[in-house]
Order: sequence, then C-alpha cells, then structure tokens
Amino acid sequence: MKRIAVRNLRLCTKDCLCLYVCPNGATDTEDSIIDKDKCIGCGVCADACPSKAISMVIQDYPPQQKKKESVVNAINRLAENKAKEEKAARQIASSTTDNNLRRLMNAVARSSRLVAEDLLREGGYMLPQSSNSLDLLASLIAAPPSDEFPMKAANEILSTIECNDRTGRGKYRCTVCFTEFEEEDDGEKPSCPMCHAEGKALEKL
Ligand code: SF4
Ligand code: SF4
Repeated sequence: MKRIAVRNLRLCTKDCLCLYVCPNGATDTEDSIIDKDKCIGCGVCADACPSKAISMVIQDYPPQQKKKESVVNAINRLAENKAKEEKAARQIASSTTDNNLRRLMNAVARSSRLVAEDLLREGGYMLPQSSNSLDLLASLIAAPPSDEFPMKAANEILSTIECNDRTGRGKYRCTVCFTEFEEEDDGEKPSCPMCHAEGKALEKL
C-alpha cells in the first residue's frame, strides 16, 4: 500500500531537517507542501522531523465498507438531531447577554458539530474517495450554495480524487487463493484469474 509524506504547516518550525534527508527532493517545494509525485514513501523525513510535523499517510484508501440501510438511516437521523442542537445553541449564544451562558452554548454548538461530522463519516459521507461524497461535491459545483463557494478547489478535488466504490463490474475475493479481482465484462460467470475457482469459492466485495 503506497504511503506518502504530508507536512502539517502549523507544527512545522522550519528548521529544514526534512530538506536534507529526503532522497528525492520531495520536501523542498516553494509552497511547503510535500511533492506527492516525488515522494517515494520512505518515511525518513517523518523520523527526522523534530516537531512531528510530518506524517506518513496511505495514498490509496480501500473502498468504504457498506452499511445496512437501516443503520445509515439511524445515523442520518442522529446527525440531523445534532444539527438542530447546534442551531439552537447558536441562537441562544447570539441572543444572550450572559457571558457564561454564551460560552457554554458556543461549546455545545461546537461539540454538536463534531459529533455530527463523526456520524456522517460513519454513515459513509465525508470519505473523499466515496461515491456519495463525490456526487455531493459534483452537485455543489453544479449549483453552488453561495458566491463564496470555492469552485476552483472543488473542481480540483473532483478531478484529483478517484472514486473507489463505483464500478460497473463486480469485485470478488477468491477464498481459495485470496486473489482479489474484478469480473470480466464478457457475460461469463466470474472465476478467479489465478486458480479458476468459481461460485461459492468467491466472495463478493
Ligand atoms: S523537519 Fe519538520 S519542522 Fe523542520 S522543516 Fe521539515 S517539517 Fe518543518
Ligand atoms: S517520505 Fe521519503 S521521499 Fe517522501 S518526502 Fe519524506 S524523505 Fe522524501
């Protein structure tokens, strides 16, 4: 699984050790963003960085796991309640003159937002490589919610991130030799390209 280095600019103290140790010049960029095309994923920079500003992340994420519709619906309902909670807390915070209450409500609003975001992630949204996130982004590009919508960045994300859970063909894992493969588009029954196992020996992914 390919890994690449990413630098957290807020933690970077610019002592430049990573520039010296990188064997491929990937850390030496004008905008301080590590060049993902040059990075070979060796991890030397992350080990050398004294501020722990560099993390190694995997580049190709596995397809998200499908959840039962009833579970996704329950998660969405919970997220909706959290959104209402956030809205109510913000209204109270903006209308009160009590400083303590305002601070408390701001904290409630923030925590509701964080929980809602987690819930939506659990429900399958906000994974950048998932079809529902990319479809949502495409719909926002088609009908931007405001003039400030970052159209250029949104288009860039859409053209850069490959969807990994939408394929016309089925994906299988062979339980005999553990090969994962996509079925051929030839109308034949799927069979393992390595050991030719068929039927119950194949697990649909
Ligand atoms: S070694 Fe770490 S702190 Fe130093 S420049 Fe590189 S990322 Fe920044
Ligand atoms: S992981 Fe290796 S190749 Fe990539 S930026 Fe760090 S030192 Fe350079």
